[in-house]
Amino acid sequence: MFVVLMTGEEGLELVFLGTGAALTLPSFFCTCATCEDARKNPENRRTRSAVALLGKEITLIDVGPDIEHQMEREGIRTVDNIFVTHWHYDHIGGLLGLGEPVSISKWGIINLYGTEDVTERIEREYGWLKNWFNLHTIKVGDTIQISDASWKVVKTNHTQHSVGFVVNARTKFAYLVDGIVPPPETVNELMGLDLLITEGTMDFLDEEWHNFKLDDAVAFWRQTGIPECILTHVSCHGWENEKLVAGMTPDERSDYVSDHLGLKIAYDGMRISL
Ligand SMILES: [Zn+2]
Ligand SMILES: [Zn+2]
Ligand SMILES: [Zn+2]
Repeated sequence: MFVVLMTGEEGLELVFLGTGAALTLPSFFCTCATCEDARKNPENRRTRSAVALLGKEITLIDVGPDIEHQMEREGIRTVDNIFVTHWHYDHIGGLLGLGEPVSISKWGIINLYGTEDVTERIEREYGWLKNWFNLHTIKVGDTIQISDASWKVVKTNHTQHSVGFVVNARTKFAYLVDGIVPPPETVNELMGLDLLITEGTMDFLDEEWHNFKLDDAVAFWRQTGIPECILTHVSCHGWENEKLVAGMTPDERSDYVSDHLGLKIAYDGMRISL
């Protein structure tokens, strides 16, 4: 599939439905200082990462297991399109929760865009969802035009099949969640963008993962030359000696952000105009 790029004329709103990593914050099994803080201060809680782009159509990136509560919290009543980054539970675990509403409401069929890995698994494991989802298999290099923006599919460095999206609307931004520094072909696609949304899964990390720690996410963003960066998919924890440990305190996190002009760390319910 290839469609000529067209720039959207009207502004859009991006809603951060969830901004946590694979585990929610607080995590039920964890009594570290970060989780105890989130128990006391609900504004510091985080659900699994997903965003909604609101324009003429309502388009989600990822549908984690918290999606129904996130949609209810934000008052979003329908979905037109879903783009899926990769087949991990925290990104696709809410698919079943969206099928049922389609069947009992006046929604149209939802267009779901995913790589072959995603669409094949849906057909194999959740075949009945095909009644409610129009599955579109996408591949790296494709550009998909929907009414609000064009979406270019780019490879991320997370799993074999994981992808991200470069979205060309009035504001041009990339959503690269999850993954560490992507391949050069993807980095080339980031030139001239207004905003990078990427992940900062761990505050600190004493081994290599296919997820960023904050400092590495910020270093990658700086290399792209993109003026603004929003980090999401943040666990607010560290990983040390093969253990999940408390991350920065909220004050330390806010100092960290102040030290990096152009950086924001997303929170659940955050909205930005594009
Ligand atoms: Zn994830
Ligand atoms: Zn914890
Ligand atoms: Zn993942």
